[in-house]
Amino acid sequence: MNKKKILQLCTFLVLTNTFLTTFSNSATAREKAPTQTTLIQKTIEQAYTKFKPVQDGQNASYIPYLAKADSALYGIAIVTVDGQVFKVGNADHNFPVESVSKIFTLADVLQKKGADTILRKVGVNATGLPFNSVLAIELNNDKLGGSPPAGNPLVNAGAIATASLVEGKTVEAKWKSVLDTASAFAGHPLHLNEDVYQSEMASNQHNQAIAILLHSYDALYADPMETVDLYTRECSYDVNALDLATMGATLANGGTNPRTHLPVVNATTSAHVLAVMATAGLYNTTGEWLFKVGLPGKSGVGGGIVAVVPGKLAIGVYSSRLDTAGNSVRGQLAVQFIAEALGANIFSSKAQ
Ligand code: GLU
Repeated sequence: MNKKKILQLCTFLVLTNTFLTTFSNSATAREKAPTQTTLIQKTIEQAYTKFKPVQDGQNASYIPYLAKADSALYGIAIVTVDGQVFKVGNADHNFPVESVSKIFTLADVLQKKGADTILRKVGVNATGLPFNSVLAIELNNDKLGGSPPAGNPLVNAGAIATASLVEGKTVEAKWKSVLDTASAFAGHPLHLNEDVYQSEMASNQHNQAIAILLHSYDALYADPMETVDLYTRECSYDVNALDLATMGATLANGGTNPRTHLPVVNATTSAHVLAVMATAGLYNTTGEWLFKVGLPGKSGVGGGIVAVVPGKLAIGVYSSRLDTAGNSVRGQLAVQFIAEALGANIFSSKAQ
């Protein structure tokens, strides 16, 4: 064979190989898409059926509105970063967001004021104590662990301190900022549940005490009572499991809502929010959650849980019965089952 012939043969082989690889990749993509879609829907249906009979736990009793929630309701949704939606059960049933809102207010403040403000003024370390602990403020104020008194943005003290950093001249302007950001995460306007708000305003003396204590340590950055009002509103907007999945998928997608395609926060803010969720998202049992599930998550005493698989998808679950730490019992079981079935644990070398 002369040189020219060898060159022609090599070119032919390269082109053939490129064609075959391209063809087989697109064939795999075509086959993979429906398979993955079927797997996700099948998995959430299995999680729904498997844990539907679970009756463990109790509705939050310290907020009158939540005590009377219908504990039979149970819904699961998944939203992927390419905007696909999967749901089962009561995924469209509205319930109060409660503590899950803390991550979206955190995102609002991080985006507008920067990470350094949260690090210096609120902190990002786990407290190891219940979400509404006054003792944690005292311990942190003594600089045990070197955190600011508020602890982190996902316990009440830190969420109240974070609310005091929301931009706006009046409480109404600040509330608009909080609700607008949360609505952009959800992809549609969210609304205050007036009954929940009134119910919590009539029974939030403990949070008022937290705000005043923070104020006494110069660790609150706006008027205490006005801030508690804002914080209480933030806990009182309604969401459903599909909203939580969409909001989580926005974090999974670097801050752009995968259903509206609109940017809400930047990728740095998303990563910071997910880090704080991994540290403190499930109250004082966050370590156990991360150990078992391997995903950043956030729960609320309204019965919602959101869990995020960065770069891939988010899971939203609603079921009102809680464990003693304040996390939805069925919600945790469902997310753990789904994370295992989809190979989603971010610490696993087998993660898909
Ligand atoms: N509004 C509730 C409170 O401040 C929220 C608690 C929660 O979901 O953790 O006590």
